[in-house]
Amino acid sequence: IVKIAGLHKAFGDLEVLKGVDVSIREGEVVCLIGPSGSGKSTLLRCVNMLEEPTQGTVEAAGHSMTDPDVDIDAARRDIGMVFQQFNLFSHLSILDNIVLPQRRVLGRGKAEAVANARRQLEAVGVEGKEKAKPAQLSGGQQQRVAIARALAMGPRLMLFDEPTSALDPELVGEVLHVMRRLADEGMTMIVVTHEMDFAKEVADRVLFLSDGVICEQGPPADVLTDPKTERAKGFLHRVL
Ligand code: ATP
Ligand code: MG
Repeated sequence: IVKIAGLHKAFGDLEVLKGVDVSIREGEVVCLIGPSGSGKSTLLRCVNMLEEPTQGTVEAAGHSMTDPDVDIDAARRDIGMVFQQFNLFSHLSILDNIVLPQRRVLGRGKAEAVANARRQLEAVGVEGKEKAKPAQLSGGQQQRVAIARALAMGPRLMLFDEPTSALDPELVGEVLHVMRRLADEGMTMIVVTHEMDFAKEVADRVLFLSDGVICEQGPPADVLTDPKTERAKGFLHRVL
């Protein structure tokens, strides 16, 4: 469902990605780890073309993302993204945050969009807050609403960029719980995370990005507990 080949990305003289190749099967949960500044966010953003690769090809959710003729709006409908900062619309109610994108982007009727929004809110365990504004919710609730908003669009692929990094420690678990359930339901997910326990328990595969390439990958039990490269050993030694 994802195929990245020969991906390069530079910002001016700074070469961030230097030839990344990754293929991901439908239903696979992939955690992307690596040092700060190694290009994890850049790689994730190249999947849905929030960043344009300098070189290489990306196919995602049935769309040739790097093809100049790609229908990028259609592609992004199939690819949900959740950021570290929840990026909810602060002036809209919780319900409208989920209803409006469905109406504007998918052209859904109001009743259908509202019913779907309520279903998604229930699924992430945020109920009775429909009329509230985002600022009235806890960070964990806001992030769960952001996930509900993405899921309401019916994506085939979900991208998460450090979804729990901005949260108080006691709120991390409720967001990871929602993500774990989504994984159990078979969603294809790429998750940039520093939550090694989550990676260990939920990921089918862990990718370690360093110096612009995936320098190590495999099942979490291998990569996280018995890394082969010195770079991965050093990184894991620091974070575990
Ligand atoms: P972190 O763990 O801190 O989130 P990361 O692995 O996600 O780091 P990126 O955000 O992808 O790293 O950044 C990789 C490198 O590219 C960094 O050196 C960053 O400064 C640089 N970079 C990212 N976005 C841009 C941009 N829009 N313009 C210029 N440089 C950028
Ligand atoms: Mg990042």
